Amino acid sequence: MSVDRSVIRELETIVGAEHVRTDPGDVEPYSRDATPAFRAVPDAVAWPGTAEEVAAILKLATSRRVPVIPRGAGSNLCAATVAERGGIVVVLTRMDKILEVSADELLARVETGVSTAALADTAAAQGLLYAPDPGSRTVSTVGGNVAMCAGGLRGLKYGVTRNYVLGTTVVLPTGEIMKTGGRLWKDVAGYDLTRLLTGSEGTLGVLTELTVALLPMPATSNTGVAYFPTLADAGRAVDAIIGHGIVPATLEFLDAKCIGAVEQYARLGLRDDAGALLLFGDDGAQDVVDRNLERIGEQCTATGAMEVTLAENIARAQALLEARRCSLPALSRLGTMTILEDATVPRPRLAEMVDRIDAIAHAHDVPVATFGHAGDGNLHPTIVVDQHDDAAIKRAHEAFGEVFKAAISMDGTITGEHGVGAAKLPYLIDRLGADQMALLRRIKAAFDPAGILNPGKLGS
Ligand SMILES: Cc1cc2nc3c(=O)[nH]c(=O)nc-3n(C[C@H](O)[C@H](O)[C@H](O)COP(=O)(O)OP(=O)(O)OC[C@H]3O[C@@H](n4cnc5c(N)ncnc54)[C@H](O)[C@@H]3O)c2cc1C
Repeated sequence: MSVDRSVIRELETIVGAEHVRTDPGDVEPYSRDATPAFRAVPDAVAWPGTAEEVAAILKLATSRRVPVIPRGAGSNLCAATVAERGGIVVVLTRMDKILEVSADELLARVETGVSTAALADTAAAQGLLYAPDPGSRTVSTVGGNVAMCAGGLRGLKYGVTRNYVLGTTVVLPTGEIMKTGGRLWKDVAGYDLTRLLTGSEGTLGVLTELTVALLPMPATSNTGVAYFPTLADAGRAVDAIIGHGIVPATLEFLDAKCIGAVEQYARLGLRDDAGALLLFGDDGAQDVVDRNLERIGEQCTATGAMEVTLAENIARAQALLEARRCSLPALSRLGTMTILEDATVPRPRLAEMVDRIDAIAHAHDVPVATFGHAGDGNLHPTIVVDQHDDAAIKRAHEAFGEVFKAAISMDGTITGEHGVGAAKLPYLIDRLGADQMALLRRIKAAFDPAGILNPGKLGS
């Protein structure tokens, strides 16, 4: 252990010995998150129960120069919680209370360790919608979603997590507990620290409480699927749908390899002869949903769809959405290591980007399948390899390096929603340039002068 024993004793005094683990077997599960090929064992794991305990941990860590890595459910896909420099992993999942749901003010106040699904379900029971909808919602925490600015299947119409964060309680690395924003939908007093903290990946402060915006629950929703001969045809359909002023809640795509993997995995009755599938859905008043789905179907047909089908009932609509949600687990069955990426390009260049990805994968001799949020131009190329095949893993990482360069060359970005973490830090300079990287470091230093919070990540 590189952390002094006296630090561990103080940590035990702060949160109680029963909430601290240092045995190798106990800390090992916290040496990785959902990102394959990244692993680093922390010195200790602690589960604080209050903001005051978090503050005491951070004060201790700053004074003793010990790294602290905040962690929710550990479901991130960019090695954002890997303790590259050792230190204390601070897990927020004990702080999981839903403190308030207000239908009058259309907001909820939660502790940050609550799961996304628990918040959404509690809001739904009161006729309210918590719109952010990451595929990991049953496990991910709301704090982790805010720290990553998570997206999801409803991003096109509803936006991403940042659109719903009204206020935070945040503990700074120096131990101050601070409130940013609040219950207001309008507030322009000062720099927007709430937005700065959203997507800061646990490098500026530890979020302990959040106030998030809710919406009235839409009266109804439905889903449909369109099959196309090629992904280029599906891309044209996406442009036509949006070009005709239709902005549906969901507009997702799967390439042929994904369709095959999902069908093998979930037996949803998907066609096996299509080059691409578009999954579309909308919510709202029944007549609006019916009309929008009909118009989407018309645009798909006009751009060469082989077949367009609307879900005939709620169960089928859920099953179709599942086709998209289970893409990752379905592909994961094809090998022992699944590397999923997250490049984004301007929407009209989606099909072109998929072609580039296929060409890059071919050149590097790695199998790739791509799915993603067509409406957002956000692609998830996924390479599945044998975890013992070091050469294939190296080729996969090299291929993704080229994918990121291709995205940037097309006015895109290296990550649309999964974040930078340790995994993508080497590519961040290509996206931001040296001046912005330097500004990021100055912002980081203003929040975290000792550099103890999630070192080796953003702002490092
Ligand atoms: C099957 C699957 C599907 C997924 N689908 C999506 C998707 O559709 N869209 C999407 O955007 N992502 C998706 N993800 C990625 C992941 O679930 C999200 O990034 C999620 O927001 C992470 O939440 P978490 O609680 O697991 O956070 P963690 O992984 O524990 O942490 C993520 C980051 O947040 C920081 N952090 C966590 N809690 C706090 C806190 N309280 N204060 C400060 N910093 C904190 C950590 O330090 C780290 O940098 C998916 C992942 C999986 C495995």
